[in-house]
Amino acid sequence: MRYLSNANRIYKVQKLTMSRKIYRPKALEIEMTYVCNLRCISCAILDDIKKGTFGFSAKEIISILSQLKSIGINYYSLTGGEPFVHYDILRSVIADAPIDLIKINTNGFYFSTPKIVRETLGELKESGFGLRNKTIPAWLNI
Ligand code: SF4
Repeated sequence: MRYLSNANRIYKVQKLTMSRKIYRPKALEIEMTYVCNLRCISCAILDDIKKGTFGFSAKEIISILSQLKSIGINYYSLTGGEPFVHYDILRSVIADAPIDLIKINTNGFYFSTPKIVRETLGELKESGFGLRNKTIPAWLNI
C-alpha cells in the first residue's frame, strides 16, 4: 500500500515535471569518492574523508548516469574527496558515460607543472572528455 502511494507520488511529480510546472535539474554532481590526499580544515566532508570510505566503482557511477539519462538529466560533474586519487575510475567513467561530463572538481595537487596538466588533459581527451560536450547549452555558462 505504501509502495503504491509512493508510486502515485512519483507519477504526479513526473507529470508536473514533464509539463515544466516545477523545477527539473539539468545536471547532477556525484561525490565519487571520500578519499582525498589533503586534510583541509575547512572541508565540509572531512569526517567522511578521515574514515577513508572508498566511494563508487566505475560500474556503479555508469549505472547512476544511465538512470539520470532515463529521467532527462544530460550533464554531470564529479567531485570527492579528490577524484584524481582514482584516476583509473575517472577515465573509465569518462569513456563509458551515457551523458556529458561538464566539470571535475579537483584540489589541483597532482597538477604541479604545465606539462603534467597538458599530459593529463591529453589522457582525459583520449578517454572521451570533451568529445560529447558539443551539446552543452549556453545556460551552463562554462
Ligand atoms: S581538497 Fe577538498 S575534499 Fe580534500 S580535504 Fe580539502 S576541501 Fe576536502
